[in-house]
Amino acid sequence: MDVLVIGAGAVGLTTAISLAEAGLSVTIRTAELPEQTTSVAAGAVWGAVKVGPPERALEWGRTGLEVLSKLAAEPGTGVRMAAGREVSRSPFEPYYWMRLLADLRPCEPSELPAGFTDGWRYTAPLVTMPVYLTYLRDRFEQAGGTLEVSPVTALAGLAGAAPVIVNCSGAAAFDLVPDPEVVPVRGQVVIVANPGIDEFLISRDPEPPWIVYMFPHGDTILLGGTNDEGNWDTEPRPEVAERIIAGCVAVEPRLRGAEILGHRVGLRPCRPEVRLEPEPLGDSTLWHNYGHGGAGISMAWGCAAEIARSMLS
Ligand SMILES: Cc1cc2nc3c(=O)[nH]c(=O)nc-3n(C[C@H](O)[C@H](O)[C@H](O)COP(=O)(O)OP(=O)(O)OC[C@H]3O[C@@H](n4cnc5c(N)ncnc54)[C@H](O)[C@@H]3O)c2cc1C
Repeated sequence: MDVLVIGAGAVGLTTAISLAEAGLSVTIRTAELPEQTTSVAAGAVWGAVKVGPPERALEWGRTGLEVLSKLAAEPGTGVRMAAGREVSRSPFEPYYWMRLLADLRPCEPSELPAGFTDGWRYTAPLVTMPVYLTYLRDRFEQAGGTLEVSPVTALAGLAGAAPVIVNCSGAAAFDLVPDPEVVPVRGQVVIVANPGIDEFLISRDPEPPWIVYMFPHGDTILLGGTNDEGNWDTEPRPEVAERIIAGCVAVEPRLRGAEILGHRVGLRPCRPEVRLEPEPLGDSTLWHNYGHGGAGISMAWGCAAEIARSMLS
């Protein structure tokens, strides 16, 4: 074994693929299967929301945008290019990373939902996470990788297990490293039958009804959301689901009465900055690759490429 990757969320799988496809022998050890991770709860649209440091996040995001845009052209990946709007009830300057989006433009007043005064329209990769995670796992195994469900109890115990170990444990890095800078930001979403919506919509207004978003995935649409800082509870809460649905119906009345098909909860691994750096661990090198907050699906390919470049140069 050349590399041991800890974690099989989007970040662990992407890192493992990048190294396995470069010819290295890679094993993933994970506490949970990909479909049980935070990653499966994501919306997931490309963006670099509240993730740092900004210069590095812009580069990781650029790579993520390129790779995901290419995957959107391949069948079976779970990625497609989708048009949508990000809207606000107050003046809204585009985020710095939005300049990477080729067709970004302000919304016409007629394109804003009732009660909203500003917004931006763009096309970006939109990812159906259950399909995408299956695609990533298959691609990793086709590159010769092995995935073991076997929780790691202590990083120190892994010294010598492989020349390189990559820690992609998401919010669990809080205990595993341990890293007190990691804060879980709980996100709950509801999956309902899609009444015919094909564009995404996001409102990140900080006051009630808080963050509201909808991401269409063919016959289903994912509704959100919550940004509940410091909350480790992964059980869906019915009163939160009701609030999410009410918030989405208020913006998009076609969702009224839509059949509820499921609930998901994920813990965004938030940190003042993504931790992407190596350190010695006995005779091994331990790379950390965690803390991607609400943007891990978008950042994963860029972070994986940085590790691969550093290891293979
Ligand atoms: C509701 C919601 C919406 C989101 N929307 C978006 C979006 O639109 N766009 C976007 O880019 N991002 C979005 N995100 C953020 C994104 O989901 C995360 O940044 C990303 O999933 C983090 O991936 P990860 O692989 O680091 O962590 P995880 O998916 O949590 O995976 C961690 C892995 O580590 C394993 N692990 C943990 N501890 C151990 C251990 N001790 N031993 C072995 N294995 C261990 C776990 O089992 C798991 O396999 C969203 C998140 C949520 C919750």
